[in-house]
Amino acid sequence: PLGLGAWAYDRGRLVPAAEPALPLSTQCLHYGTGTFEGIRAYRSNDGLCLFRARDHYERLLRACRILRITVAETVEDLIGITVDLVRRNGHDSDTYVRPLAYKLSLLPGLAPGVSLAGVSDALSMVTYTFPCEPGLKGVRCTISSWRRPQRDALPVQAKVVGGYVTSALAADEARALGLDDAILLDSTGNVAEASTSNVFAVFAGRVVTPPVTGDLLPGITRDTVITLCRESGLDVVERPLGPGELLGADEVFLSSTGKGVDPVLAVSGRDIGSGAVGPVAAQVAGLYEAVTHGADSKHLDWLTCVAPD
Ligand code: PMP
Repeated sequence: PLGLGAWAYDRGRLVPAAEPALPLSTQCLHYGTGTFEGIRAYRSNDGLCLFRARDHYERLLRACRILRITVAETVEDLIGITVDLVRRNGHDSDTYVRPLAYKLSLLPGLAPGVSLAGVSDALSMVTYTFPCEPGLKGVRCTISSWRRPQRDALPVQAKVVGGYVTSALAADEARALGLDDAILLDSTGNVAEASTSNVFAVFAGRVVTPPVTGDLLPGITRDTVITLCRESGLDVVERPLGPGELLGADEVFLSSTGKGVDPVLAVSGRDIGSGAVGPVAAQVAGLYEAVTHGADSKHLDWLTCVAPD
């Protein structure tokens, strides 16, 4: 269960989370002109620590530049605000942080793309308690009938609010089929990503994932997984991956901040490999668990610890 923290950050101030009220003219509500991040903090021996907060905020600020959202806060400021907010909310167990930067005022007669620079901006942040689920259950996926929009239709490298319509429709279709998630193809018919995760496949011990030059979000967990695989001697190849290849793979797994490393047990009603959690996915999930919880001494620089008040 997700529990919303009692305090939020709203346009420069820490306020009770129930206080902010958005004008009905907020442009992001109408046109999806906003961008967000999802950042997690895990309990380690040093207390609660944010994982790769700097990378998440760098991605947020790059997305803001694309959308012409002016943010007064620097990456350092945003990390400081996050630490303050997590402390103020008294989180001492695993936490999820959701910053959102968005276009505020809708000028009369303004079409969605016209003069984005003329529309005022806002930045907010809320936190949730978000316990890690123990164990690796794995998920069953469909190949979605919705395709990932091309990079010339949507800035796929940014977590743009409006772009999540495709993710929502794909995930909804999967649920309606009684499945957990959807794998979306790109316009060329190759695997792009899942609704909110990147996709990996394993063939004879070699790990394959679609390249970031494709129509997918360059996930921070994806980058973490590639780094951890290579450090532990696993071969990782970034190349286009066809949907048929997934069906023949020894293993498939997903990566995301929200779910970490998530094994895929079946695609389109077909078991992947043995239909159980495979050894490579289990190994990578173990490495990810260690690095996020401060148990990998090589990557302590990925952690920002939130000392209690
Ligand atoms: N793709 C999409 C569309 C996503 O929303 C996410 C979640 N942010 C990911 C991939 C995984 O990215 P990350 O590992 O940075 O959470």
